[in-house]
Amino acid sequence: MDIKMLKEENKIFKNLYNEQGWELENALKRNDWLDTKKIIDKGRDWIINEIKASELRGRGGAGFSTGLKWSFAPKKVGSRPHYLVINADESEPGTCKDRDILRFEPQKLIEGCLIASYAVNAKVCYVYIRGEYLNEGKRLQEAIDEAYSKNLIGKNACNSGWDLDIYIHYGAGAYICGEETALLESLEGNKGQPRLKPPFPALVGLYGCPTIVNNVETIAVVPTILRRGAKWFASMGRPKNTGTKIFCISGNVNTPCNVEEEMGIPLKELIEKHGGGVIGGWKNLQAVIPGGSSMPMVPKDICETLKMDFDSLVEVKSGLGTAGVVVINKDEDIVKCMARIARFYKHESCGQCTPCREGAGWMWRILERTVKGEATHKDIDLLTDVTKQIEGHTICAFGEGSAWPVQGLLRHFRKDIDKRCFSEPIIKKKRKIPYLIDQHKLESKDA
Ligand code: SF4
Repeated sequence: MDIKMLKEENKIFKNLYNEQGWELENALKRNDWLDTKKIIDKGRDWIINEIKASELRGRGGAGFSTGLKWSFAPKKVGSRPHYLVINADESEPGTCKDRDILRFEPQKLIEGCLIASYAVNAKVCYVYIRGEYLNEGKRLQEAIDEAYSKNLIGKNACNSGWDLDIYIHYGAGAYICGEETALLESLEGNKGQPRLKPPFPALVGLYGCPTIVNNVETIAVVPTILRRGAKWFASMGRPKNTGTKIFCISGNVNTPCNVEEEMGIPLKELIEKHGGGVIGGWKNLQAVIPGGSSMPMVPKDICETLKMDFDSLVEVKSGLGTAGVVVINKDEDIVKCMARIARFYKHESCGQCTPCREGAGWMWRILERTVKGEATHKDIDLLTDVTKQIEGHTICAFGEGSAWPVQGLLRHFRKDIDKRCFSEPIIKKKRKIPYLIDQHKLESKDA
């Protein structure tokens, strides 16, 4: 295979494996904080337009245009202050890219926070980190302290005339707090449950004030884009799918890793070159979840030619999501894999919407029955219907995130599933333990 790699000079994250040191002095050698004042001096409109021109799309999963999001913040600060909130919750199974930015490239994030805060008129920035990232949070705090000590942030940051304070806030480990409005609720000290939108956070966000919420990777790439120019960033990938991206490769591969590559890299190349190939060889590949557990899987025949960018994945009814690539080979029971993912979503539903709360458990139970060979063909039709009843009928995108992976399984593996099903239900004569206790037993096995 003709394998091209992202040129070293085009990599944004040069210390992704901590070979050069994360400390400020080492970050400065990598050109972090170079001419930050000059960038800020160019003004808000220039910064936002440049980010728009780069076609940077959010790296947290939704892929929304970053420049456009920033432009939604009111141009002038009224009676309410503006906030920038960094989403470092990173709870999507199969995803661990922000973690490496937090611990190995923290100055990129901090510099990005300063520039983005200036662009959206925020003088306070909160970094919401999942509770499990305690060590990463400590590392980031050390980096923030270093930046304060050199006057890179704080009063008159970088002599730009702009003041910025950055605070870290730890979550308590709920997946849903990665959803931006649930994150804001949690940050305010409430239960982490999504809000109805509109109003959107850009107008009514944290404490009811205009708030821009961005993912760690999104903000960390901003300084380099502004230093090297939107044209440089947009020259990589293809229109609307530009730049570089950190891909997380895991599952049945020989060398699981995080790697920065050009947007649009062929999936096969990503797995063969960086993931060390599928365990058992490419022929042993069954399917790939391309963008974290909430994205529909794609089977081997599609993987042969699939390119890893937002639009290519939508074309095959999946999504780039967080670019958490989970490889599943033929040694795995694909229904069992999906039952496990469904159980995760059942557990993580915040419970506000009936279709999500009830449907997530419903999908899990049918999949469990299928794994055990106790499901009927009607069950599978019902499963299909449940996914449709969830999709589009909930407050937040968690509903889709729980239903899409099951839809992906049904779309590509229905025939295999049908082979495991019966026409008539299996009637159990005696049920020794009540159903709820049964559920708890299943859960505690994994605890
Ligand atoms: Fe909560 Fe699920 Fe509704 Fe989102 S879709 S608000 S997670 S119940």
